[in-house]
Amino acid sequence: MEPGESSIFPVDDALEMILIFDEMGEISYANEAARKGLEYDEDIYGNNISDIFPNEFRTGEDGFETDCPIGYELQNLVAYRKNFTCFPVKARIIESKTHPGKYICMADDTVEKEYLNREIIQAKQEAKEAQKVKTEFVANVTHELRTPVNGVLGNVRELICDEKDPKRSKSLWTISRCCEDMNKIIDNILDFSKLEAGKFTLEPRKFNTREMLDYVKSNHASKITEKGLEFFMTVSPQVPEYVIGDELRIEQILNNFLSNALKFTATGKVTVEVLKTAQVNDQIELFFIVIDSGIGIDKADKDKLFESFSQVDASISRKYGGTGLGLNICKQLVELMGGRVGVESEKGTGSAFSFSVWVGSCEEGAASSQTDALKMAAYTSASMSVLAGEEQENIKNYGTPENKEALKRNLSKLILCVEMENWEKAEMFMETIRQLAEGAPREVGRIILKLKMAVQKENYDKVSAGYEELKAFLQ
Ligand code: ADP
Repeated sequence: MEPGESSIFPVDDALEMILIFDEMGEISYANEAARKGLEYDEDIYGNNISDIFPNEFRTGEDGFETDCPIGYELQNLVAYRKNFTCFPVKARIIESKTHPGKYICMADDTVEKEYLNREIIQAKQEAKEAQKVKTEFVANVTHELRTPVNGVLGNVRELICDEKDPKRSKSLWTISRCCEDMNKIIDNILDFSKLEAGKFTLEPRKFNTREMLDYVKSNHASKITEKGLEFFMTVSPQVPEYVIGDELRIEQILNNFLSNALKFTATGKVTVEVLKTAQVNDQIELFFIVIDSGIGIDKADKDKLFESFSQVDASISRKYGGTGLGLNICKQLVELMGGRVGVESEKGTGSAFSFSVWVGSCEEGAASSQTDALKMAAYTSASMSVLAGEEQENIKNYGTPENKEALKRNLSKLILCVEMENWEKAEMFMETIRQLAEGAPREVGRIILKLKMAVQKENYDKVSAGYEELKAFLQ
């Protein structure tokens, strides 16, 4: 091939720079990308490969010399333009099989790629920082909001107890309900921001499925009676009494589906069914379905239901209220638990919302004992694996890193329960904390005693203070 005969090559259009040179290093072909990139015209022919890659190639008497391996391996080289400026490339240099003595260099300009990579890394970093700031801000604001709301709620409840006048009593109940609604919104915002930031961790522990379902039912009893709806809850006998999972979160999803069903159903009935749908080794799939005879959802709106901030239409949100975050949070939580959400609905007839979650099985199925409480503490939030015997021992011994971690974990669960006003469960975690702190110095014992009394008295402010005190100690 004569120099300049490049156009006969189809590779002339390739985006990669292609150079062909001989044993002496003399360039006989450069495609358009190479000529452009190296800022040559036809005058590239006759130049030597050592002019392009002077760091790696030298001209010798018998031919070119190079430290660069000839083969398919990608290498980082520095290419020089005609005006002696340079830029980094990733290149392969091979010897032609069909034309021995001819070498082909295929090189990619990495300047732009490196620049883009740097931009991407920087943009990712900035997005991460912004997300962190946002999450912290939301967490702070919601926490700050919760304190006055709970303050109002606690005082209103005390006033309700003493109030004899029915009219004033009704107003106080309204205030109390408003505070509860506000707390739900605050919880939703907090959950949503944590899920969005990927900072949400599940907290699996052993729990009684029947007790959890009874509790959910009792949460909605007054609404069912108030609306005069028929209500049925059936639990398949196959559903184990005890399982290992994040009880609070499963409860939260079911509560959301059920309160929506009750909200959007004026007459008729609401049914909840719980089934065991699969088992793989010690993992069980539980399936929950909530069916109502309410307003239903249009086919076109069904797909947007689980998106964040989505409410079917403005008139619905005006009439029924809500932030439109509930179903999106449920979907994300369900997916964290390895399950899926589903909806079947017909406008004017009713809806069936379902979800599945994977939980761990408990062979013993016995009531929670002291060892169970300690075992629960040993469950990490990320995985369901039980710690080995020796590590369990470490958890029991006050002051070990494992014990500290378990204390911190249970303390967070305690405060979560208190914030959700689930005092019964808060007492359970308090008991685990007490057991974990056996043998602790007097100072810690004193804080724990104060905390325990505050939990028993359902005093939010004192629990918060005790929580902060103990947390500071553990840190
Ligand atoms: P919010 O947090 O505001 O209650 P959700 O995310 O729980 O919102 O629900 C979003 C929207 O989905 C509701 O505003 C309503 O339009 C629709 N929806 C949810 N459940 C039902 C149901 N059982 N029947 C009819 N519409 C429903």
